[in-house]
This record gives sequence, structure tokens and C-alpha cells, in this order.
Amino acid sequence: MAQASDVLAIKYRPKRFEDLIGQDTISQTLSLALSSKRLSHAYLFSGLRGSGKTSTARIFAKALICDNGPTSTPCETCENCTMANENRHIDIIEMDAASSRKIDDIRDLIEQTKYKPAAARFKIFIIDEVHMLTKEAFNALLKTLEEPPAFVKFILATTDPLKLPATILSRTQHFKFKRISQTLIVNHLAHVLNLEQINFEQESLEILARSGSGSLRDTLTLLDQAIIYSKQYVDVSTVTQMLGLIDPAFIDSIFDAVFSKDRSRVTAMVKELQEYDGEMVIDELIAYLKEKLYEHDIKFPTMLLDRFLHILSDAKSLFFLNADSGFVLLLLFSKMIEALKLKEIDQIIEELENTTHEPQHIKPMPTVQTPIPSPQIVPTPAPTIAETIKEEPKIEPQTDAIAQVEPESQPKEDERFSKLIDRLIDRNVNLGECFKQSVYLISFEGNTLTWQSCAEEDCKKVLRNGYSVIKFMVQEIWGIDVKISNKPCDEVKKKSEPKAAPTPIIEPEPIKEPDIVDLADEDNQNTMGCVANCETPPAQIDAKAMLQEPMVQRAKELFSAKRIVVQSKV
Ligand SMILES: [Zn+2]
Repeated sequence: MAQASDVLAIKYRPKRFEDLIGQDTISQTLSLALSSKRLSHAYLFSGLRGSGKTSTARIFAKALICDNGPTSTPCETCENCTMANENRHIDIIEMDAASSRKIDDIRDLIEQTKYKPAAARFKIFIIDEVHMLTKEAFNALLKTLEEPPAFVKFILATTDPLKLPATILSRTQHFKFKRISQTLIVNHLAHVLNLEQINFEQESLEILARSGSGSLRDTLTLLDQAIIYSKQYVDVSTVTQMLGLIDPAFIDSIFDAVFSKDRSRVTAMVKELQEYDGEMVIDELIAYLKEKLYEHDIKFPTMLLDRFLHILSDAKSLFFLNADSGFVLLLLFSKMIEALKLKEIDQIIEELENTTHEPQHIKPMPTVQTPIPSPQIVPTPAPTIAETIKEEPKIEPQTDAIAQVEPESQPKEDERFSKLIDRLIDRNVNLGECFKQSVYLISFEGNTLTWQSCAEEDCKKVLRNGYSVIKFMVQEIWGIDVKISNKPCDEVKKKSEPKAAPTPIIEPEPIKEPDIVDLADEDNQNTMGCVANCETPPAQIDAKAMLQEPMVQRAKELFSAKRIVVQSKV
């Protein structure tokens, strides 16, 4: 029986299916197979180390040979169960293929399959790390695996099923063991410590579980060490010291320094960190940030976490260049401080938008992805079908006709058009009023916004001057690649009778308009706009020009952005 001096991994090795941690599906399936006596002659258990393969194999073997069995609930008291639990049953033969991998070893094993079990109803062969067998050994095993005597059962276990020949895979029932989740491991550690009557800090168990990388056995071994090292009280500081990790409290204070942009404090802390392995520090920082993401810590918004993680992954690659770890750490924290400034740039843009009412829809977002030589422009998809005519006395008959064709989309486009008018008035009362009085929506179809303009000379001038603004607002509402088609006043009267079909874009007098709206253009020198006669150039040009903005360039530099996406805010 287990002694108090036993290591925890052995002392708390599961003895029943229900004791298995994190492998519910597998223990249920095997239990069902045992209860219904639908047994295969060969099983393959694959999964990460420490995920419970060997424990499951032993429980399954015991279940097969229990006096009451085969049963999913072995009695634990009969001779077979007792011997199996003590790992000394003569008919359960365990072999480690990592050390016995040659053809002779397999020949010995095959020889044993010829003799009937000594005490139990089955003779069970558990072969661990089966992928380590040589090719010849596999071939020798194959025939026996295919047609073993009725009293023989094979349980093969491997961490690397891909290395097994297809012939082996096809002759076994394959069970894939999942990685045990960190939460389950932490709960199990807490359970073990409670049974051992040892006090602990919850966070220290999380650190241990993280270091065990999903292996319950490895984590329990670390816990053994921690109990000795921490003199019966498992806490964060002793666990981090034992594992050579950084105390989370120290990482907290580094990020405090980063957030307060206190470069001298950061430099001093980097000096302290130099006693640790640089790559390990980065791994710790990544784990720390991951934790912040799970906690939804408001100090670490997603965008910031994303930037920080990119900085960390860049820093990691510097180690391949044999860079000094102090230098890499200082560089990465400095980059993090710089990254905080981008938030300020966002704020500045926001402020600019608020104070000048500059079109808001283009907002550069550097995202680091696959390298692309030039910035990529991803326009927001524009709305598809909609058609309407502004309620206006002089074109009343047409209004009715068209409203009947597309009754549902009309309110939507009307709404958008009123929104456009509201925004124009909000931006410039004169421009907005002129627009409201003299421009009427006809339709929005196939990405073309068609309107008619019946502006008087004065208003025409205002509209022409403000055209770039109008266009930007239209793009904001209908999407960046919308085209504007303008109908002269009387032409509409003639043409609008028949249909709900797309209106052709007409350019009686092609006038080139500027590619980008300059703030200065708005009310004075820009006379190239067109409301009376116009066709919008491809929207990409505006976006491209926007990408040339110094502020965007600076942000691009700062984050070595390889891809910039321009999106409409609407
Ligand atoms: Zn039994």
C-alpha cells in the first residue's frame, strides 16, 4: 500500500475510472465497453505525457481481471484486484518500448502470449511508448496483434501516434487523451494538499500547474519539491524561487513603471531581471499578459495586449541573434512605453475629429501580419439595394411609382439621406441648407448614389465648394467605394418615369475633383467640387492619400506595421 513517504504522483495515482482527471469521455467509453462486454483485443492510448494513459491502462487491466469482472467497477478486494493495485499481478505484463525496442524483446513477448494466464482470465500486455519500437519489432508484433489468442489483451500507449505504422493503428481501438486543463490540475493539487493537510496559496498552485505544462504527473512532482522547499506552506514566493521564476508582484511593478512611463525605474528593474534567463523572462511576461486577458483587466485593453505581445514576440527573435538579454529587455520595455503613446495618437485623432469635424471614417490601425509591400486598402462593403425619391411636390407622381416597387428599402435610404443632410448642417449650416433645399435623392443602387440637383446659382457655388466634404460624408454613410451620380434638374423629370433600374452615371461636363479633402479646402479655394456635374473617382485614392498622412506614417514606423487596414466607421 502507499506509504506516507511516497511521492504524491504515486500516492495519488488514480485507482478507479472515476478518479481519472480530465479524461471523462475515455473513462465513460471504457466503462461502457466493460459493462457491455464488448471488448477489443488491442487498445491504443495516445496523448501528452502525464495525461493519464498508463493509469488508465492499469485500471482497465484490473477491471478485466477482477473476480467480478470484466466490470467497470472492480471490487478492489479480490486477489486479482489487490495484486493489480500493488502492481505485481503476474498476468499484467508491462513493457517499456523505449528501453526494450528490439525485435528480440518483441519475440520474448510473443512467446509469452502462447501460454495461458497463470491466475486471471486474461493475460494483459501493456506496452508503453510503443512508437519507439524498431520497424522489425513492429512487423514481428503485427501478426500477434491481429489474431492474438482469446485470453490475450494488448494495451499500447504512446505520446506520438503519428510515428506508428498504419498497420498498427488499423488493428487497435484508438483513444486520444486530452491535455488536462490547468483548472483541473489546480483543483487536483488543492485536493491533494487538503488531504495532506498542508496550507497553500492558490496562486502558487497556478504557477506550478503552468510549469507542469499540462502533465499531471510532472506537476505533482513539482508539488513534492515545493512542499519540501517551502517547509509545509506552499506560497507564491517560495514556488517562484524554487522554479527560478519571477515573482508576479515584481512583474506587476514593472508594468506599473511602464504605464507611468518611468524609464529610470524600468532600467533599474531590468538590471534586477538580468539574473534570470532572458527568454524565460519573456515567457513569464507572456504568461502574465495572457492572465490579464483572461481576467479582463481594464488596465490592459485588448489592443494594448496585442501590441505588447507583438513586442514580446519580436524581442524573442532577437535572442537568435545572440543579443544580450539586458539589452533585449530594456528595448522591449521601451517599445512598450512607446506603444502607450499610440493610444494618445488615437486620442489626438479623436480630438481632431471633434474640433474640426473632419471626416471620421478613415482610421488607420496598424496590424502586424504577413509582409505586404504596400498598404492594403480594405473598403467597407457598401449597402446594396435601395431606391427612393425624396418626397417633393414637383416629382410627386414618380415618388409613388417607385415607392411601390421597393417599399421596404425606401425608409432606409430616406433615413440615410436625412442623416447626410443632418451631418452637413452640423458641419456647415450654409452648405447643409443649400444641399437640403436643392438636392433630392433618387436612388441608391449597385453602389451608385443617384440624386438630382436643382440648385440656384448661389447655392450651386456653395455646393461646388463644399463638394469634397459632401463626398466624404456620403462615403461615411454609404461606404467608401460609393459612386455619386448627379442628375441635372430637368433631366430627372424626363427620365425618372419608368423604372427602378440603375440610373446611368452621366457626366455632361467632366470636372476633375481633388483626391483628398484638405481641411483648408473646405470653404475657400476648392472650386473643383461638383454637385451639378460629378462622378466620384475610385475611393481607394482617398484612402491611399490618407495613408500618406504624417501621423499615419509615424504610427506605421512606431509599430513597424506591415499591413494597414482602412475602414469606414459607419
Ligand atoms: Zn476484484
